[in-house]
Amino acid sequence: MPSGTILVINCGSSSIKFALVNPDAQAFALSGLAERLGSPDAVLHWQAAGQKHTRAIATADHRAALAQLLPLVQQAAGEQLLGIGHRVVHGGEHFTSASLINPQTLAAIRQTAPLAPLHNPANLQGIEAALALFPELPQVAVFDTAFHQSLPEHAYRYALPEVLYREHGVRRYGFHGTSHRYVSLRAAELSGLPVTDSSWLSAHLGNGCSTCAIVNGQSRDTSMGLTPLEGLAMGTRSGDVDPNLFGHLSRTLDWSLEQIEHMLNHDSGLLGLSGLSNDMRSLEQARAKGHPGATLAIEVFCYRLAKSLAAMGCALPRLDGLIFTGGIGENSALVRSKTLEHLQLLNLRLDPAANLACVGGNSGPIELQGHTRVLVIATNEERQIALDTLAAINTVALPN
Ligand code: ADP
Repeated sequence: MPSGTILVINCGSSSIKFALVNPDAQAFALSGLAERLGSPDAVLHWQAAGQKHTRAIATADHRAALAQLLPLVQQAAGEQLLGIGHRVVHGGEHFTSASLINPQTLAAIRQTAPLAPLHNPANLQGIEAALALFPELPQVAVFDTAFHQSLPEHAYRYALPEVLYREHGVRRYGFHGTSHRYVSLRAAELSGLPVTDSSWLSAHLGNGCSTCAIVNGQSRDTSMGLTPLEGLAMGTRSGDVDPNLFGHLSRTLDWSLEQIEHMLNHDSGLLGLSGLSNDMRSLEQARAKGHPGATLAIEVFCYRLAKSLAAMGCALPRLDGLIFTGGIGENSALVRSKTLEHLQLLNLRLDPAANLACVGGNSGPIELQGHTRVLVIATNEERQIALDTLAAINTVALPN
């Protein structure tokens, strides 16, 4: 595949994360964040050639922020810029891979918005702003859900009346697909196994957390569902709870739907359990000083993670290795070791010294000799989005 530079854009409702990625180079030529968009405090931070910069862009919206970015991108990429890759959270059942942006793609992303009411409209704002500012460049949407479209029906269907699936798209979709895909490809490469004959469990542990079972390069099950709330305990999300909790809180406390959703998404998880923080690093420090809430939050987080990984094992023919990634997975020796204490049934044991050494960007194998492979791999969603964008552009450019 010919290489070249891709501008990767990840738009939130009031922010834009961006990176200029050339798959041939390790470092990004330009990367940064525009945040608090639409407010008087809007600001653009970027890093290029080892230098950090900040510029106030008061009241700038997505389009104005991208316009500020344009000369920086042109300076850093010049003629090398081949296209733009947009992270889009939800592709529903429509998108099984990255897709070149055209009127049909935009309409399908819009149609999927009810499934991701906070994310997809923000992603669309970024795409529309970028189309206006870079009309000559091919642009590609890369979906968090697409990798999981290979789930078999028995893994993606809820045990609910069929009409909810057939007419309303109520099923498990899964997220973090770009990250699970990237680390599973790296795991195969690092282990000298062909991707097409490999079998992995992956744990993406950032602010949002999910597990995934990957067989021969395809996702076969994952812990997130219709929305990113299902599955593991996360920074502020509860993960799995008894669905009757909604009725119970409504009847006993007279809570509204919005209150319950807010509590489950924003006040729960590590934050809710600890009463202290959603941040694992802070919780580890508090635990070391004997904070009972922080101690419990970490215990629950690790036990639920182990339980999810064991369950994902049902989707694998064998286990070539377990992958830890995301801010917690890449840095917390404590979480990795506590999680694996619950997984001895899967022949997973850690080498304590190797585990402690894999922090702060150090990747590698951390299993005890003679036990199943355990890998710490730094995720790089921007790089995977750039690779998928290049592949989508090149597929279209190829003659039939
Ligand atoms: P996001 O999902 O926002 O991309 P990250 O992947 O950056 O998040 O992960 C953020 C999480 O990683 C936080 O809980 C943070 O405390 C945790 N983390 C980062 N560094 C460490 C560390 N050295 N030890 C423990 N946890 C860490």
